[in-house]
Amino acid sequence: MSERKFKLTCIVCPLGCEVEVTMEDGRITKVEGCRCPRGRDYAIQEVTEPKRTVMSVVPVKGGKFPTVAVKSDRPVPKELIPKIMRELAGVELEAPVKVGEIVVENVLGTGANIVATREA
Ligand code: SF4
Repeated sequence: MSERKFKLTCIVCPLGCEVEVTMEDGRITKVEGCRCPRGRDYAIQEVTEPKRTVMSVVPVKGGKFPTVAVKSDRPVPKELIPKIMRELAGVELEAPVKVGEIVVENVLGTGANIVATREA
């Protein structure tokens, strides 16, 4: 039987609980240190399939600004972030760009859209 322990800080709320997740043979057997179920869910997600919101900047042709900040509208698997960044490196928008406009739909089949965070 192989046991692994993961220590992490919960970032769901400002309390920042120190959490320890124990896995045995690939199964989670213990989650300690959380003060609430949201933290427990976060810790399990973080150990089994960590996700992050992607943020980047893409160029805009003919706009008020030469670039616009973009982000994913939901967290995506952390391991896909380098691929998503490579995909975004090939994107150039035409003005006008609206807040919330979808820049890349369902990026890499994650179900997340990359959206503009402001007008350009
Ligand atoms: S475990 Fe709950 S109380 Fe603790 S930081 Fe996470 S969300 Fe906040």
